[in-house]
Amino acid sequence: MADCIFCKIIDGEISASIVYSDDRVVAFNDVNPQAPVHVIIVPRQHIPTVADLGPETSGLMDSLTQTANRIAQERGIASRGYRLVVNCNAEAGQSVYHLHLHLLGGRPMTWPPG
Ligand code: AMP
Repeated sequence: MADCIFCKIIDGEISASIVYSDDRVVAFNDVNPQAPVHVIIVPRQHIPTVADLGPETSGLMDSLTQTANRIAQERGIASRGYRLVVNCNAEAGQSVYHLHLHLLGGRPMTWPPG
């Protein structure tokens, strides 16, 4: 997708702090971290929002979630606790329209979210 910043990161056109990459998933540190650990996990496939998932993308969220869980283990926050967030569309605060999971951790979190 030509104008998608996350596609550009995936393609190496824009630099990012990549923490994981395989044939389906790429993960990188958020450029504006909201917690000591803030990693963005994306599918290589350009899918605008979580609402665009369907039978043809079956298993993709599993890949994103399993990657997040593994990174949480590696960063030492798994047992303390962490939060996985998917913002969908404007009112939820989605700003980049390429499906992504936020992995947030390393500090106490409040609820409800803002
Ligand atoms: P969302 O608001 O849920 O769409 O989240 C988009 C996230 O992408 C935000 O937390 C941004 O800080 C992050 N972000 C935007 N551009 C970049 C970039 N070039 N490298 C890393 N993270 C980015």
